[in-house]
Amino acid sequence: MTAKTIDGKAAAAELRKRVAKQVSELRANYDVQPGLAAILVGDDPASQVYIRNKERQTEEVGMASVGRRLPAETSEGALLSIIEELNHDPTVHGILVQLPLPKQIKSEAVISAISAEKDVDGFHPMNVAALSNGKDGLVPCTPMGCAMLLKDQIGDLTGKEALIIGRSNIVGKPMAQLLLAENCTVTIAHSRTRDLDQKCRNADIVVAAVGIPKLVKGDWIKPGATLIDVGINRVSKNDGTTSYRLVGDIDYEEAVQAAGAITPVPGGVGPMTIACLLQNTLAACKRQTILRD
Ligand code: NAD
Repeated sequence: MTAKTIDGKAAAAELRKRVAKQVSELRANYDVQPGLAAILVGDDPASQVYIRNKERQTEEVGMASVGRRLPAETSEGALLSIIEELNHDPTVHGILVQLPLPKQIKSEAVISAISAEKDVDGFHPMNVAALSNGKDGLVPCTPMGCAMLLKDQIGDLTGKEALIIGRSNIVGKPMAQLLLAENCTVTIAHSRTRDLDQKCRNADIVVAAVGIPKLVKGDWIKPGATLIDVGINRVSKNDGTTSYRLVGDIDYEEAVQAAGAITPVPGGVGPMTIACLLQNTLAACKRQTILRD
């Protein structure tokens, strides 16, 4: 059996289309344009690429994009002042600060300073609490995209055995909350977990968010399982040059032989993350404007 490839690019394009339609209705019916402010501190090349992609896609769906580029030596106080200003700017409905931040700035302080209703990354403690209490809030974009792909693929997730590999605050933990809310039986594995292969063999759903190339092997996969690979790892092409290719945390070539469906890397989870950011910005804008009491 060869697994179906889950096309994250196509799913993300569909989601962006739905967001763009709602943005255009908001603008036409209420004269409201969602605005997203993206702050980048320093000149990390990978972060510059992410931010440019986010800004381009923000504009493509008809939202306003407010870019702030700050030098690497920016102090925590200076960054907090800019966030405070954006918190009070009625044209900005979503604020994101690209992580990681330079070491003089504490990311917890920055995340907590963003107004919870503009926290489109879903990292603010109030949004974390809302997710774990099953209340409305803003949900982190990567796990939100993974949950959408799983529901598109499987439909009702009730009773599925779900293994999440990785317990980070931005992927593993919120992923567990989302799958619990979908009535999965959730196991969270991490760097100290024993017998990961056996846990994997029992799982109908595997979400791998570790950062170790090809950690999950083909013979760990339960036949027919649905696999979501969040990992993005650069590995050498071994062609005598310095060029590299991207691989996930799951050994795709092996796993595709056993699984029912699998996301590729690249082209799986990655595109959904930015589309979910736009979805969050739209939701935040509606709550701050037309849905406000
Ligand atoms: P992280 O480093 O914060 O967390 C990694 C987790 O893996 C930890 O909880 C750790 O306990 C666990 N782990 C480490 N070694 C392990 C092992 N041998 N067995 C089982 N678990 C182990 O990473 P993160 O921020 O959650 O990101 C994980 C991966 O996902 C990275 O490759 C990252 O680049 C990628 N990522 C992709 C997207 C996207 O949009 N596609 C978004 C976020 C992160």
